Amino acid sequence: MTSIAVRAPAKINLFLAVDAPGADGYHNLTTVFLALSVFDTVTVSSVEAGAGLRLTVTGTDTAAVPVDSTNLAWRAAVLLAQRTGIDADASITIDKQIPVAAGLAGGSADAAATLVALDGLWGTALDRDQLGELAAELGSDVPFALHGGVAFGAGRGDRLSSVLTRGRTDWVLGIARTGLSTPTVYAELDRLRAQRHVPGAADPAGVLTALRQDDAELLGRGLANDLAVAALSLRPDLRRAVRAGAEAGALGQMISGSGPTVAYLARDPEHAITVAARLSAEGLFAGVRVASGPAPGPRLPRSAR
Ligand code: ATP
Repeated sequence: MTSIAVRAPAKINLFLAVDAPGADGYHNLTTVFLALSVFDTVTVSSVEAGAGLRLTVTGTDTAAVPVDSTNLAWRAAVLLAQRTGIDADASITIDKQIPVAAGLAGGSADAAATLVALDGLWGTALDRDQLGELAAELGSDVPFALHGGVAFGAGRGDRLSSVLTRGRTDWVLGIARTGLSTPTVYAELDRLRAQRHVPGAADPAGVLTALRQDDAELLGRGLANDLAVAALSLRPDLRRAVRAGAEAGALGQMISGSGPTVAYLARDPEHAITVAARLSAEGLFAGVRVASGPAPGPRLPRSAR
């Protein structure tokens, strides 16, 4: 096997409650993740022994993505090689379709897909738990990126448990013209909470029941994100984008993760197209995309298993 391509889905958080930071500065989370059908593709290929790592990024938004050892996919490759005691020789190409710095965890998706793809290419054959441990070292969103589908997340979002779900959910994503930095959004939340009482997301029961019962109306009412107040404080223009959801007939809307992407829930695929067309007409976004979830996490193609 000399070349392996693996798809890496974006994620949104249907529910995200953020605790006060601990002594280490990190925030504990209670979250419900959903992987969506917006994919980067990570292709890894063999190179001659001793050639090291090469990274190429194609697709959209490439200028915003580093192609050196700071790229999360590169870090994933180095970590896998170190832990399995092999030389990190590979060419990695990321076809970027997930908007960058958008609150959709594209970097984490690429890291998870790189672990899976290189584990296949290098024949290191780690099991899911071993890959999961490496994922957790790479970042709090990487374990879910490896898992895909839908999951409940605790701790930093890296302690996952399964969620019962029936059916698919349909979404419209409003992609902003410029991104938001995740650490800046967390710092803004801490700053706002130090100044005044900020009401928080209550509990994820509504979202979990809605997923179990395949009830889109209930899901729309349960969407909640503690980071939204901070993203809106940094980017007041997003208020209009959030309001536009109700006017466009969405069942619910929220800022995705640390933003600035706004995710709008639709009843079904046709309704998603109607909502997307109405939102496009507002001219508020760099792009409007329809997507569905849950999408499967990164998997080796059948020919490479
Ligand atoms: P987070 O995962 O921290 O919530 P996000 O989803 O908002 O972040 P990403 O698209 O993952 O945003 O990118 C955040 C930053 O990480 C980018 O600005 C970029 O500099 C850096 N980065 C490193 N590796 C990647 C990658 N493979 N794809 C995209 N960005 C990357």
